[in-house]
Amino acid sequence: VDPPRTNFIRQIIDADLAAGKHDHIATRFPPEPNGYLHIGHAKSIALNFGLALDYHGTCNLRFDDTNPLKEDVEFVDSIQADVRWLGFDWGERRFFASDYFEQLYQFAIELIEQNLAYVCDLSAEDTRTYRGTLTEPGRDSPYRERSVAENLDLFARMRSGEFADGSRTLRARIDMRSPNINLRDPVLYRLKHGVIHHQTGSAWCLYPTYDYTHPLSDALEGITHSLCTLEFEDHRPLYDWCIDHVSVPSKPRQIEFSRLNLEYTVMSKRRLTELVSEQLVNGWDDPRMPTLAGLRRRGYTPAAIREFCERVGVTKSDNLVEMALLESAIRDDLDASAPRRMAVLRPLKVVLTNYLEEIPPAPPFTKGGEEKPPVDKSPQPPLLKGEEEEKPPFEKGGLGGFDQTKQLEGFSVTLPNHPKDASMGSRELPFGAELWIDHNDFAEQPPKDFKRLIPGGEVRLRGAYVIRCDEVIKDAAGAVTELRASVDFATLGKNPEGRKVKGVIHWVAAATAIPAEIRLYDRLFRVPTPGAGGNDYRADLNPNSLQVLTDCMVEPALADVRSGERFQFEREGYFVADPDTAPARPVFNLTVGLRDIWGK
Ligand code: ATP
Ligand code: MG
Ligand code: MG
Repeated sequence: VDPPRTNFIRQIIDADLAAGKHDHIATRFPPEPNGYLHIGHAKSIALNFGLALDYHGTCNLRFDDTNPLKEDVEFVDSIQADVRWLGFDWGERRFFASDYFEQLYQFAIELIEQNLAYVCDLSAEDTRTYRGTLTEPGRDSPYRERSVAENLDLFARMRSGEFADGSRTLRARIDMRSPNINLRDPVLYRLKHGVIHHQTGSAWCLYPTYDYTHPLSDALEGITHSLCTLEFEDHRPLYDWCIDHVSVPSKPRQIEFSRLNLEYTVMSKRRLTELVSEQLVNGWDDPRMPTLAGLRRRGYTPAAIREFCERVGVTKSDNLVEMALLESAIRDDLDASAPRRMAVLRPLKVVLTNYLEEIPPAPPFTKGGEEKPPVDKSPQPPLLKGEEEEKPPFEKGGLGGFDQTKQLEGFSVTLPNHPKDASMGSRELPFGAELWIDHNDFAEQPPKDFKRLIPGGEVRLRGAYVIRCDEVIKDAAGAVTELRASVDFATLGKNPEGRKVKGVIHWVAAATAIPAEIRLYDRLFRVPTPGAGGNDYRADLNPNSLQVLTDCMVEPALADVRSGERFQFEREGYFVADPDTAPARPVFNLTVGLRDIWGK
């Protein structure tokens, strides 16, 4: 593995360690359990857990669960599964911000005792009006000068459930005229009656805000470097204010980095939640979703996602990352690791009319083996059923080899599982008198430079013979339903005599093919930044993002495929077996095509 690239955060950590500020570093990944993790979170996970690994420090998984209404254990579970799947381990270091509710409450009392927090009776709307705007200073709340004793009393009664939701908040007493709106007496606590929190049940009706909870949770856990996205940059003064004014055991440092934004998708949890709940996609793990669950089902590997995060890097400036960058990471991974297979997505029957009739004479061989037979580079088809079954002393194997001992219907070619990696072995691909080829590999009126099959033309069947199309069969509507072709038996593993055949197409033998369903995916949205034109982002959904092909034919080696197994289907792309795969009925998802199509 290459050493990680340096970035400004590593430079800060290096300097802190050199200055003796810490003897080990501690980071955390703090998701709110209100949705599934997406590729943006992967960047944060890879960064936080990656730093901990490289610096021999620790990384906590902390659920930032201060908004019980939108949260659920379903999300706690999925987040844990996804972090593990990505290849990271928090060990015993799993926490919930709600673990600290009692401690946070005591910290709030400390603030009140220092006259740094007060109970405010303004409504939510009035609180907003009093806050002012970017150009207008805020105004002091009429409740700002309450005595410490009154604030302590009211705060205790807020906890005990005496006051209705929205009637009171606890606010920090900072500066209503600060140019930074976050410092204009921010709300620290609000009332939420009747919600059952997934961790604390109904123990609390008083909930701390994110801006108050986050710094203090970091401090309680001894986090040294608290990494968050750029939009929290102007929350940092409040982050520091909180840890500076209560008796926390450590002082973490907040550092902001750029969010990951990806073209042709949305990443806000609100929008992802809408896509799921409005059934605009088939759930959180829909292969078109930018969620980790979706990418997993799409066939992405954890290594490819980590590599993508590494290639994206960690910077201080927000940018929109091209889909091609994500796709090249998985393509590179699968090019090296995925076994090759034949799959015909849009099957067109080809009948080889001379295959059964013209059986050329068997190659000469001698019994007893004193004499080696002449090396015949153009092996012929096998014997008909019931014919001579004596074994010729031929060596079998290699591309284009065939087994003379097999019956005609059992004839197969041996193909390597990977053209560049012999350790992946080979498999037998049965041949036959009836084949499936892809409709796209035949054209009656071929466009210029069409190197596949045309009427009267020749093409090579990958790993097998050259065939010539002799006849085109059509239905009443004029659609091509079948081709009649003839085999040139002299072309197995060698070039035809006296002419060049340029095209090579994939195929499967009809008698042994396995029917399969193949799901093709395109970008979920039609535009790089959905909703950027001021329209609802839903209007930018790509109506053709999913195409389901139910009549595909794949080679028999794919009969017992298990969910999650990845392949390259020759000339088509990389595919993964979907969890919907049933016995004898594989279902595959397109992970990514063979080439970058985003540039065109
Ligand atoms: P949203 O704003 O969509 O609700 P969030 O940032 O609030 O997302 P969290 O669950 O709070 O979601 O995120 C957990 C961690 O992941 C945070 O530290 C956050 O900064 C980081 N994170 C979230 N989205 C991205 C992203 N697109 N790029 C990098 N880091 C991200
Ligand atoms: Mg958040
Ligand atoms: Mg959020």
